[in-house]
Amino acid sequence: MLRPQEAWQAVLGELEISLGRSSYTTWLKSAKLLTYEDGQFVIEVPNGYAKEWLEKRKQAEVQRLLAERLGRNVSVSFVVLQHRTSAEAETKPLLREEREDNMACPMASTGREIYLGTSNLLSEYTFETFVVGAGNRFAYAASMAVAEQPAIKYNPLFIYGGTGLGKTHLLHAVGHLVRQRGLICRYITTETFVNDFIEALRNHSQSDFRDKYRRVDVLLVDDVQFLSGMERAQEEFFYTFNTLQEAHKQIVLTSDRTPKRMVKLEERLRTRFEWGLMVEVSPPDLETRIAILQQKAEQRAANVPSEVLEFVARQIQSNVRELEGALNRLIATSELLGRPITVQLARDTLSDLFGRQVNISPMQVVETVAAYYGITVKEMISAARNKELVVPRQVAMYLLRQETDASLPEIGSLLGGRDHTTVLHGVERVKERLDTDDQLRRDLMHLRERLYVNASSEG
Ligand code: ADP
Ligand code: MG
Repeated sequence: MLRPQEAWQAVLGELEISLGRSSYTTWLKSAKLLTYEDGQFVIEVPNGYAKEWLEKRKQAEVQRLLAERLGRNVSVSFVVLQHRTSAEAETKPLLREEREDNMACPMASTGREIYLGTSNLLSEYTFETFVVGAGNRFAYAASMAVAEQPAIKYNPLFIYGGTGLGKTHLLHAVGHLVRQRGLICRYITTETFVNDFIEALRNHSQSDFRDKYRRVDVLLVDDVQFLSGMERAQEEFFYTFNTLQEAHKQIVLTSDRTPKRMVKLEERLRTRFEWGLMVEVSPPDLETRIAILQQKAEQRAANVPSEVLEFVARQIQSNVRELEGALNRLIATSELLGRPITVQLARDTLSDLFGRQVNISPMQVVETVAAYYGITVKEMISAARNKELVVPRQVAMYLLRQETDASLPEIGSLLGGRDHTTVLHGVERVKERLDTDDQLRRDLMHLRERLYVNASSEG
């Protein structure tokens, strides 16, 4: 018989197939088994929308699937945790009162807004504290341009990319800069917009609502993917959008996916989202990860040796939020135990985070890249040097370097006995091109997605 965690993973796999990729990503991808006790599953979901959607449409099915797997009756509840970083949520055992407390206020969102205060912007999310690297250079430059000259260049600016990669940070940074210049700016999450809208309908206060969102010079809207499927709110958003555009006001949007991939989004909104400039943030490379850790350590006035920074940066690869969580935990543990921050302490304190990191084998990378570009592994490792093969080969070199522990000579020998300098050249070529080549950045994002999805479904 399966253990609860295994049963949950298996059910997630089935739901991914039955729901289709995009619904799955929207509603279930970050759902986690929080606790299991005597047939009672508590699943953590990232926000009130996911909770509501799952409760309304999927609760019975999830229960049935889990029951089949475990061979017993089960019940399932979905909760949204607040005031907690994801790292804490994964390690701290949850007390019963806390759990009930959380279930009592389901629609509250991420909890971050609580710290936003009246200014609505997080003080530490500025351009100065944003570390620029290959994955985010373009998004950074575009955000800066928009903040310096709102509604002149790119309108709207649409920033998209995976979770924890700095989209919200950039949005706040734009906000700080335009406020310094005396412009009126409003930052909102899409959840707030939708909640406000529903509230306005209920209280017949639509005109206040409209004023609030339309009397601004710059409107910053976070996570617009949550508009998917919200028909009335989309309509209202459409009018807000048009009013602002016509008045030459700047709009900046973020989303975890491109407008094309937002299913259940009205066509007229989709075209508007695509109107201005779309920029992607992709996962940071090793150097950028180290630089981010360095900067966060400095912000906390913590003395973290560079070998420890590199060690952590090598282990945690795809998400800046997790990177930061790991560093925070390391610093806290060092203070609590009165031990200096060393690689050994990092190993001891963070092992569970590293354990969760999926391990990707070098051969998996080669196979995934070959399949992605529609060539065979044999072609990949052959001596032939036509362009259709050279590019995938260099991409494989780059990914092997970034995502596995393989050394340059090991990569060379895996790819048909090539010299380590050839590998180094290939890796460098890809790095250079990442700065200018959008398509390549997208390819790498998709490749990483495939690698991690396959690796975690096997694990
Ligand atoms: P997203 O909105 O894309 O999910 P966030 O903007 O919330 O991600 O970023 C998650 C955390 O990582 C934040 O604390 C943010 O400050 C930090 N972060 C992300 N990218 C960078 C970066 N390039 N430099 C510094 N901090 C970053
Ligand atoms: Mg965000």
